Amino acid sequence: MQKLANLVGGSLQPSLSAHELEVWEPAVGQVYASAPQSDAADVEAAVATAQTAFTTWRETPSSERARLLHRLADLIERDLEAFAAAESRDTGKPLSLARSLDIPRSIANLRFFAAAATQFASESHAMEDGAVNYTLRQPHGVVGCISPWNLPLYLFTWKIAPALAAGNCVVAKPSEVTPVTAAMLAERSIEAGFPAGVLNILHGGGAVGGAIVAHPQIRAISFTGGTTTGRHIALAAAPLFKKLTLELGGKNPSIVFADCDFEAAVTGVVRSAFANQGEICLCSSRVLVERSLYPRFREAFVERVRALRVGDPLEPDTDQGALVSAAHYGKVMGAVATARKEGGKILCGGEPAQVHAARCAKGWFLQPTVIEGLAASCETNQEEIFGPVATLLPFEDEAEALAIANGTAFGLATSLWSRDVQRCHRMAAQLESGLVWINTWLLRDLRTPMGGTKHSGLGREGGFEAMKFFTEPKNVCLKY
Ligand code: NDP
Repeated sequence: MQKLANLVGGSLQPSLSAHELEVWEPAVGQVYASAPQSDAADVEAAVATAQTAFTTWRETPSSERARLLHRLADLIERDLEAFAAAESRDTGKPLSLARSLDIPRSIANLRFFAAAATQFASESHAMEDGAVNYTLRQPHGVVGCISPWNLPLYLFTWKIAPALAAGNCVVAKPSEVTPVTAAMLAERSIEAGFPAGVLNILHGGGAVGGAIVAHPQIRAISFTGGTTTGRHIALAAAPLFKKLTLELGGKNPSIVFADCDFEAAVTGVVRSAFANQGEICLCSSRVLVERSLYPRFREAFVERVRALRVGDPLEPDTDQGALVSAAHYGKVMGAVATARKEGGKILCGGEPAQVHAARCAKGWFLQPTVIEGLAASCETNQEEIFGPVATLLPFEDEAEALAIANGTAFGLATSLWSRDVQRCHRMAAQLESGLVWINTWLLRDLRTPMGGTKHSGLGREGGFEAMKFFTEPKNVCLKY
């Protein structure tokens, strides 16, 4: 059985208590690895070594920080197959997806912020009466990065790369549900030659995350996860005046107008609802369709969803793998039961999926599920499900589409499908949503701000937004 280790002070080690937690393989429903069950004492040790390392890391030229991030990217690229296999095994997602999306995008994150380290600049403001202001942007010191289980290495690197590029030392925690690729990254960071203490990785449950948030010497927290956890973190961080970015949940709409490119819209919306088992914060779970197109769209959509192959993540033709854990599987099945209770009509799915591969007999597989006939205000259409479940909702006109789209507590991502360019721009401006895609979905440019409004989060990451978050601006005014 694989035994994972923490990374503290440049060396791989167990938690100080030597307690371990089990790591499960979702596709087979069995334990296959163990990870350190760290606690506040491990956070204390990691912060101490990070603070020591910061005295030299903050003075390290940005070109050297960039070189190390590129070197780490090179090593992951060298071992891409091993990383993809580990990510698929740990999450239950198709190996083909881990190979084409998770790991390449993790490498891209490291390379992007390696470049950002050398490109980041700050402002200067000249005054007419003989003075000039310039803004220093200095690293905070030790920062905390806490990431979820759905895109483990992708979101882990999305945080640690800008934090390190900006000159901070990091105490990071991956989800206890999917710790393996972060442990592999820890090994590669040693091989890459990162100085001891610059990057520390602690495994363990929410309690370690809580200890990171509460630690007085950790100056900023970058968190991606659920809205409830985000609320706990905001409460804990507020009295300490910590900087926070919170990338939280969503209840994202896809809005399909009758004048859309029909084929592109059906293909795009199926992907946006069911990619990665629907376990992407940006997935659309509410599909709003203009009433005149509704019957035709519903028929084509359901047919395409029925054709998705649920199967062993290792098989190359699998579209949808297993859900990440027994607990999450139970939560998603519970949401389907709620939809039934609310009077929803299940157009397809709604039951456990039978998977051919014998090894997957005890895995957590669910049929991709489409539901219609529910009010926009019901629980199913208001609460995040975060699984392969989408609802269909007809609308009459732009105003109604907008009201339904904006009518939840969340505001993360929307995709619009229409050939009417003016309408798309008009809608984009009025949507309460951190991201709007027009005739596409999940097309990401790493320079753009990423994050949500309302209960979907606080602050933005991505591009120089992330570099700004991980630095403290200081204005210097010089009179001459
Ligand atoms: P959680 O909020 O359960 O966990 C996220 C991370 O926080 C994990 O590492 C978790 O540890 C840790 N954690 C748990 N409790 C605490 C605490 N009290 N203090 C500090 N850290 C804590 O989210 P999930 O892992 O279940 O991820 C799914 C959620 O993430 C969904 O709601 C999804 O929408 C959201 N998400 C948002 C994204 C965005 O960019 N807006 C992107 C991706 C996902 P552990 O797992 O070990 O308990």
